[in-house]
Amino acid sequence: MANSSAITAAVRLSEKLPFPLKRLADLAYNYWWCWTSDRIALFQTIDPQEWERCGHNPVAILESSSYERLTQLAEDPFYLKQISALTREFDTYMAQKDTWVSRVAPQVSQDRPIAYFCAEFGIHESLPVYSGGLGILAGDHLKSSSDLGVPLVGVGLLYRQGYFRQRLNRHGWQEDYYLDNPFQRMPLELIKDEQGQPLTIQLEIRQRQVKVQIWRVQVGRVSLYLLDSDRQDNDPIDRWLTGHLYGGNLETRIAQEVVLGIGGVRALTALGIQPSVYHLNEGHAAFCTLEIARQAIERTGKSFYDIEAEVRNSCVFTTHTPVPAGHDVFSPDLIDSYFAHYWPQLRLSREQFLALGARRLGDPWEPFGMTVLALRMCRACNGVSELHGQVSRKMWTVLFPRRSEADVPIGYITNGVHAPTWTAPLLADLYNQYLGADWKTRAVDPQMWAKVDEIPDEELWSRHLILKDRLIAYTRYKVKKAREQRGEDYKLIQATDSLLDSNVLTIGFARRFSPYKRGDLILRDAQRALKIFGNAQRPVQIIFAGKAHPADEEGKRIIQRLMEWCQNSGILNRVAFIEDYDIYTGQKLVQGVDVWLNNPRRPLEASGTSGQKVCFNGGINCSVLDGWWCEGYQADANGKGINGWAIGEDAHTSDQELQDRIDSQSLYQLLEEEIVPLYYDQDANGIPHRWVQMMKTSIKTNAPLFNTDRMIADYVSQVYVPEIATRVGPILAKVLL
Ligand SMILES: *Cc1c(COP(=O)(O)O)cnc(C)c1O
Repeated sequence: MANSSAITAAVRLSEKLPFPLKRLADLAYNYWWCWTSDRIALFQTIDPQEWERCGHNPVAILESSSYERLTQLAEDPFYLKQISALTREFDTYMAQKDTWVSRVAPQVSQDRPIAYFCAEFGIHESLPVYSGGLGILAGDHLKSSSDLGVPLVGVGLLYRQGYFRQRLNRHGWQEDYYLDNPFQRMPLELIKDEQGQPLTIQLEIRQRQVKVQIWRVQVGRVSLYLLDSDRQDNDPIDRWLTGHLYGGNLETRIAQEVVLGIGGVRALTALGIQPSVYHLNEGHAAFCTLEIARQAIERTGKSFYDIEAEVRNSCVFTTHTPVPAGHDVFSPDLIDSYFAHYWPQLRLSREQFLALGARRLGDPWEPFGMTVLALRMCRACNGVSELHGQVSRKMWTVLFPRRSEADVPIGYITNGVHAPTWTAPLLADLYNQYLGADWKTRAVDPQMWAKVDEIPDEELWSRHLILKDRLIAYTRYKVKKAREQRGEDYKLIQATDSLLDSNVLTIGFARRFSPYKRGDLILRDAQRALKIFGNAQRPVQIIFAGKAHPADEEGKRIIQRLMEWCQNSGILNRVAFIEDYDIYTGQKLVQGVDVWLNNPRRPLEASGTSGQKVCFNGGINCSVLDGWWCEGYQADANGKGINGWAIGEDAHTSDQELQDRIDSQSLYQLLEEEIVPLYYDQDANGIPHRWVQMMKTSIKTNAPLFNTDRMIADYVSQVYVPEIATRVGPILAKVLL
């Protein structure tokens, strides 16, 4: 076992801290702190500027602070009280035995955890090894698993330079660049063996032996293991295998997926971890099923087909992509060069091996699909919303020729978000008062959420305004910095001081700029849009953020069109673009906007989660009926939304041009006739009571459903431990309490 080194990094750090602050090291090395209500001041207080500079990295800020500054804090009774309360809470949390899982599924023990594989994890902005929704979902999966006591370990890759960083040039064109992650100064621990050397596993990749080391990140009670090939004893090319997230070509992609899938299983073996379930979050990790088989064959001497059922029995799969082109496929040539040495170890021929990933058998040119492999080798498969489940069944009927579409064995578990992470501390404080101090552990309880009605409109609205102000100040700061860096005109830089206005109806739109998300749909009729945004009495403003994948020219053009639109004199102070979207910017946005806009081409948004984050903060969704919003949106008898708005119809056409026209017109109409009038219907004190009513309805109806506690309870009872499904029943809320 290599786990004895678990706390050495924290111990090393604590030795540098003055006595009353020593426990800060434990907090710094466990991301639990980032979902407490005390998170804002905890580390920032040490040195706000340095906190900003180091990307909100708690280890770096403690490492870089002077002893003089730290002893200053050590004599501040307020700070000491805060730390002591927080460490007490932390110790209680970590030691808690009576968890939800211990009650409903005691058979899942720490000795046989669930291993959750994913290519990216978005836990906090200080660990930039994520690109977007998939990673955030994985991060929230770990956090709720920790909260509910699910014995789970995460397995992923540690990318030396993470995902690309975005800046826009003076022509509004996205420029991509990469920054090195300083792992030694991050809340990570390199796993060592008994000799004190880094624990490594070996892989054969492109006829070379590659050594991979393993880092641990602590996320509450859950450990996340990240694999890293950047070692001196590797070939220089192989050191970059884990260089970038979604960076390279198909070659890098398959190599990374070998490291994640096969390397991930070997790493768990080296760590002495024997999972009871392997959860493949998206097809990237599907090679892990082969390695589980290979180890069983080596152990038992049986054939692949003899142990296949056993492998299937321990593997489950979540698919995230509603379009065929979104699934990783590799040509037989590529498979040859990465697996020619491997299929003999599975006692398979080349043809038998290729058949595992082939949609249709018998065609020698049929590519090897990761989703196909996962669907073949996993006992349970699910999409991430009801609609996505349906779309996935249709897409994969080809693999189940003897079944009707409805019987294709792909179910769904709708995504959620981790409520404590995404709820603004200022609103969490309000929930503490009106819903009860234990609201975070009762996120699935609709009766508890119904109590938001007891919050006086004035109070909810005034906190919302503070958060909106915060978002506007942050947006100005970011836009000003970007304009300075671009070397823009002095006047334009000065003008950021009057960018946006907290009295104005504020829309947020932040997500990847993939063409299907239609980031510029709102510009389709530029004149009509100008009238809405530039209206003198009842203006509207919008804040954009998001990256286009470096290879996505069309996505970059969409961003450029938005940047050009920003310069229109009628709406100069009404449109802003925040560069380099990340978790921090995401939090500021979802916590501060009035309306969250989402207008993907239906049904291409498998679930979407940013709109769910908005619900916990009193923002209201205006979205195409796609992904999770199909399940969240509620209308009254007249077809008017009561907890948000639906763009377009509950149907779609394959004529994109027509669909864009229908949806954009519907969006304009909603803004003109419903959203703007409702927002500006304010009493003498400036309180829009009908609007606040809708905020409350949005919280009440969405919060109990679209959180990761509900999602994890679903995974445990339907997928991880199906034996308990009947006992848990459909009303998970009851069991969670
Ligand atoms: C929530 C989140 C996403 C995912 O948003 P979608 O609505 O699924 O597009 C992407 N990036 C960041 C930084 C997020 O916080």
